[in-house]
Amino acid sequence: MDAREVVLRSRPVGWPEPSDFELVERELPPLEDGQLLVRNVVMSVDPYMRGRMSDAKSYAAPYALDEPMLGGAVGVIEQSRGAGFEPGQHVLHGLGWRDLAVVDARSARIVDTTAAPASAYLGVLGMTGLTAYAGLTRIANLTDGDIVFVSGAAGAVGGVAGQVARALGASRVIGSAGSDEKVAYVRDELGFDAAFNYHDGKVSRLLREAAPDGIDVYFDNVGGEHLEAAIGSLRLHGRIAICGAISAYNATEPASGPKNLARLIQTRGRIQGFLVGDHQDLAGEYWRRAAGWLADGSLTSRETFVDGLDHAVDAFLGLLHGENIGKMLVRV
Ligand code: NAP
Repeated sequence: MDAREVVLRSRPVGWPEPSDFELVERELPPLEDGQLLVRNVVMSVDPYMRGRMSDAKSYAAPYALDEPMLGGAVGVIEQSRGAGFEPGQHVLHGLGWRDLAVVDARSARIVDTTAAPASAYLGVLGMTGLTAYAGLTRIANLTDGDIVFVSGAAGAVGGVAGQVARALGASRVIGSAGSDEKVAYVRDELGFDAAFNYHDGKVSRLLREAAPDGIDVYFDNVGGEHLEAAIGSLRLHGRIAICGAISAYNATEPASGPKNLARLIQTRGRIQGFLVGDHQDLAGEYWRRAAGWLADGSLTSRETFVDGLDHAVDAFLGLLHGENIGKMLVRV
């Protein structure tokens, strides 16, 4: 049985190029005990993958050169030698970037595609949704009445973060995004109270206009100028959850830090980074609450689909360039 797989051919320096990747065919080995043959239906492209393309030391091992890349995917079991797994079931697993995968059953989770579409388990009901929930509840200690600012608000994590903040009692939710179309989506479809296009001027001024009374919580997906602006608008005992710093992911020089950190002294403010992988114990609680919010309409999500494994690299590059609204996914 042959699989098509996207391999990393060279480690990008700065912005990745299509030539850093190649789609190859490889014959799969026969299934062993405890393994599943899975035909992927949908796969995720995520900003963290940019970090794994580099060999700099990080929390996740670098992708190996000339090997297929890894990432979240949902597929249908075609053959099973794993106890408790049957052909026809959908499973969530970590062998994306390929059409057919030999998956260790211990690393696969059966998902119910009658309750939610397969793609939801990679987004709002998956890793990105849990990231938003963990960041708000555990890191930012969201409290009733907080004024919350979310950057990357039209993206997968940010869109959920703003809506969940509202559902958890935020008094005002402000978002930033990179186009007027995204700003309209964030305000009109996701129900943020205010949103701005960060290309329209200095982020500090745009944020002050959108949040004249300041902010209690900043959910940071972006870093850089956004982070400095948020520190500048932080109220007493404000909290900043550092989820991502996508503005720096393709930088060839280290980004300079915020120039106004001393403001944390006046505000007794706190900044804390986090990784969703450390908060898997929250997953059951989040799924239960998210199912309720999805049912009552307080949580909605869009997805941007790119069709075909041969366009998976385009989807990833498009994500870095902001071409997605909501979760960026590839229909394999
Ligand atoms: P996403 O927001 O759906 O997609 C990435 C978005 O980043 C793009 O659509 C683009 O939107 C924005 N962007 C790109 N360059 C930018 C820049 N220079 N300044 C501002 N925005 C920029 O991706 P996601 O999966 O939800 O991830 C969002 C962030 O969370 C990322 O930083 C990611 O690394 C992080 N994350 C962290 C964890 C964790 O465990 N800590 C887990 C998941 C994700 P615009 O058009 O608005 O620019």
